[in-house]
Amino acid sequence: TEPLLQIKGLSVDFRTDDGVVHAVTDVSLAVQPGEIVAIVGESGSGKTVTAMSVLRLLPKAAEVSADAIAFRGTDLRTLSAARLRAIRGGPVGMIFQDPMTALNPVMTIGGQVAEAVLLHQRRPDRKAAWRRAVELLGLVGVPDPAERVKQYPHEFSGGMRQRAMIAMAIANDPDLIIADEPTTALDVTIQAQVLALLRKAQAETGAATILITHDLGVVAELADRVVVMYAGRVVESAGVRELFAVPRHPYTKGLLASLPRMDLDVDQLDPIPGNPPNMAAPPAGCPFHPRCPLARDRCRTELPPLLEIGVGRSSACHFHDELAVTA
Ligand code: SF4
Repeated sequence: TEPLLQIKGLSVDFRTDDGVVHAVTDVSLAVQPGEIVAIVGESGSGKTVTAMSVLRLLPKAAEVSADAIAFRGTDLRTLSAARLRAIRGGPVGMIFQDPMTALNPVMTIGGQVAEAVLLHQRRPDRKAAWRRAVELLGLVGVPDPAERVKQYPHEFSGGMRQRAMIAMAIANDPDLIIADEPTTALDVTIQAQVLALLRKAQAETGAATILITHDLGVVAELADRVVVMYAGRVVESAGVRELFAVPRHPYTKGLLASLPRMDLDVDQLDPIPGNPPNMAAPPAGCPFHPRCPLARDRCRTELPPLLEIGVGRSSACHFHDELAVTA
């Protein structure tokens, strides 16, 4: 079957005073209807830039090239601004990390949810849109929605604002939801509630989801499939179970080792030493080699290609075999 979303050979450069930053290099990604794909990596890994390029939400300075960016077979690279607007908030819903910057501070929550509904109605009906806004806010667990719709974003808590964002994202029964760090700005108990809500929203709409996160705990809760990015490239992709059971890239292994676990003390956590590379001057060879415990001479000169290493699995490590567990 044709994927719902297909990205092929995406590269994004930014010209800066320090030189050209290759934020994303040669990323390919296919999302099937209904599946939840997590894009994981540290900040600066290119995960957000990848997702934002889909709906052309990057700043003008971004130089985007790709062999394909297609949604349901429609080429999004050349789509008119008007048709692109019809896709945003319609068949593609978006949820951002910080709802305070995504919401309009001088418009009521209900007004904004109703607006999202109206924008995609064939025959705009304000009253119906307002009723739908109340219904949607109730659906995402905002208490007393008939009253709360009249409030402004600053009158909502962070968790409630994120619920309102989710209401807007699902307002028009999307086929795809792009969620960028949807729980990062929230405190831990609220995170769990919003995650549960996202899972419910996804189940009810059947929308495929691209979940951008640095948090493997969130990935374990929600994702079907995981794409790991490092220094602007995909370094590993696999089904969520396979990836957690046997990571086949040292970077993924490092991320998993730094994941808090119920059965371990916090001081046993093992974060990856070092920092992500300067993207204006990335290291030669494998970009992970300065931090990699398995690195050897070949890694310092030869860029490992992303290779298929199993059904639905790929890794960009010269020595991925050494990470396979043999029974
Ligand atoms: Fe580490 Fe070398 Fe594999 Fe890169 S190619 S991840 S440096 S072992």
